[in-house]
Amino acid sequence: MVKKKVVLLGATGSIGKSTLEVIREQSAKLEIVLATAHSNAVELFLSADKFNIPNLVITDEQAIRAIPPIINNRKIYRGESELLKVLNELDYDIAVNAISGSAGLRSTMAILQRGKTLALANKESLVMAGHLVKELQAKYGSKIIPVDSEHSALYQAIGKHPQQEIRKVHITASGGAFRTLPLEDFHKITVEQALKHPNWEMGAKVTLDSATMFNKALEVMEAHWLFDLSYDRIKAVLHPQSVIHSLVEYVDGSFLAQMSVPDMKLPILYALSYPERYESNLVQTDLLQLPALTFAEISPSRYPLYYLGVESGKQGGILPTVANAANEAALKLFTAGKIGFTKIAEVVEKALQKADQSEHPELEEITRINRKTYAEILTEQGIKL
Ligand code: NAD
Ligand code: MG
Repeated sequence: MVKKKVVLLGATGSIGKSTLEVIREQSAKLEIVLATAHSNAVELFLSADKFNIPNLVITDEQAIRAIPPIINNRKIYRGESELLKVLNELDYDIAVNAISGSAGLRSTMAILQRGKTLALANKESLVMAGHLVKELQAKYGSKIIPVDSEHSALYQAIGKHPQQEIRKVHITASGGAFRTLPLEDFHKITVEQALKHPNWEMGAKVTLDSATMFNKALEVMEAHWLFDLSYDRIKAVLHPQSVIHSLVEYVDGSFLAQMSVPDMKLPILYALSYPERYESNLVQTDLLQLPALTFAEISPSRYPLYYLGVESGKQGGILPTVANAANEAALKLFTAGKIGFTKIAEVVEKALQKADQSEHPELEEITRINRKTYAEILTEQGIKL
């Protein structure tokens, strides 16, 4: 049997490691032909030995200096420009983009320009450049299969139903670390507390974004582009148990949902096996062990960043990029102890108020505004880049 050739971007992160576990179980069907890490070269090389990965990329300027071009017969590429080049030349079937934050954007574009299938975890790509991504997909016939659990759920529940049969999609949100914390205690929140998610094991950024629920705003924007739905047809709802990963409400009043215990290996496996389903024992759900499933509204006073983020999505153009970059900068300030938790929303709000709209930004403008917004916020607080 011919194995699917997989590219894994961000192999040392939380999604990257879960992807490795999926590929280990499915090694008769999947093989990795390229894996990347930003700075953790040692971990990348260990995985390369375990999975026999022939091509590796290290992107961080500091980390690349010490590394020879070939190790154990493996080819090592350096920096984002070599990564983009190799994505353009290498033979592969599907690429998992599990780079965190705005740094994943150019890789998304390179994969789509090749007409390849993209298993997309990096939601920021769609938030910043959804309009360009759609253009590339139309031009090159490339496909995106979502890895984000909510969007994987929607993708599965939509199946072959045409868009007009969908009344709404409902994206579930766990509520993050502070769902029940009294609002008067929000000023005391520490970085350590914010980095603990009640249901999911994830990378630092997406865990913090879950605590503020900016993550859910990113996911509403992601759904807007992935499923071609206007914002009034996308709702987010609090579902603290994270068992139902999202729901599609059809025009006849019927809801279809996808569920399992929360574990990212399942949406990753789905994306890698699509259009088939591979037999797997990685994630097992025992119905009788599940908690009672509940749903509630998302409170604007607890989660102001959710509402700010969705508003930037509705306005569109360059504003989602501004909101996303301001949020990345605010998280950096929060984790460095420079601002408190409640200030994160204020930083994003201020950046959006200051921003000039640009309706249809090209990639160059998006990356420039992304960098500028991020840098201005950090330098205002005396942090050197
Ligand atoms: P992470 O921080 O654990 O890992 C990020 C990976 O990206 C690492 O391999 C790192 O080396 C690489 N990276 C970091 N900065 C980079 C840069 N400048 N250039 C190139 N590579 C860089 O992140 P994660 O939690 O695995 O999340 C990855 C993406 O998946 C994010 O967009 C996140 O929103 C999305 N996502 C994650 C989860 C989850 O459960 N972790 C769930 C849904 C969606
Ligand atoms: Mg998600």
